[in-house]
Amino acid sequence: LVSRRKEQADTVIRLRGTAIGGADSVLVAGPCSVESREQVMEVAASLKRAGVPVMRGGAFKPRTSPYDFQGLGFEGLRLLKEAADEYGLLTISEIVDPRHLEEAAAYIDIVQIGARNMHNFELLKAAGELRKPVLLKRGLAATLDEFLHAAEYIVSRGNTQVMLIERGIRTYEKWTRNTLDISAVPILKKESHLPVLVDVSHSTGRKDIMIPCAKAALAAGADGIMAEVHPNPPAALSDADQQLDIEEFEEFVREVKASGLYR
Ligand code: PEP
Ligand code: MN
Repeated sequence: LVSRRKEQADTVIRLRGTAIGGADSVLVAGPCSVESREQVMEVAASLKRAGVPVMRGGAFKPRTSPYDFQGLGFEGLRLLKEAADEYGLLTISEIVDPRHLEEAAAYIDIVQIGARNMHNFELLKAAGELRKPVLLKRGLAATLDEFLHAAEYIVSRGNTQVMLIERGIRTYEKWTRNTLDISAVPILKKESHLPVLVDVSHSTGRKDIMIPCAKAALAAGADGIMAEVHPNPPAALSDADQQLDIEEFEEFVREVKASGLYR
């Protein structure tokens, strides 16, 4: 179902005024984690100024260590929605537990399934029962075949609104957090009709190469870009090193939109 049949047109996911996939590029940005009302309000105001329609923010955080910040849970989703509503933005947040999907659906426009859960088939099946867009992240070490089969789990349950996002894969390279697999973009676009995005924050883990990586993703045919932004990155409760501050974020958006690659 996710495979592109001969000449099949791109799937376009329409949410209020925003289309994901098809003719127009899209930007998704926001903090790694929702931390406070002030934090998400400041980020939402910046997204609005920069013309970025979709705000991300994690509330259920799949952290490597159980002693690290785990997210604000449903209170985080509530704060994210409050800020997004104030500024007319769409929301996206990761859900890790199938039992949370229904309640979470009241707060978020797009359900994110994270890299660590791409192989969680019960979560994929539950997301397939939803009638709400899903952003599926590529697993930490998932082949493209495994990635598309994970998407198939969702679509085969009747939820056709699935977007794919390349977020870097594990390799031996240490100078980036993960290795951004740019070749995944044209391959996924060729093999599937689903929208394909690229997360330039989790793939690189480096603020200093986000602009060229975003341009490369768009040049390779990506339908959109995800990036993390935080009002005070050094004080962030997760992913402090890779989040752009507001000024860097606004420059990032200007550069990406001015590149001639942003549709
Ligand atoms: C995220 O986007 O918040 C996240 C945890 O990313 P990933 O699942 O790609 O590691
Ligand atoms: Mn993060």
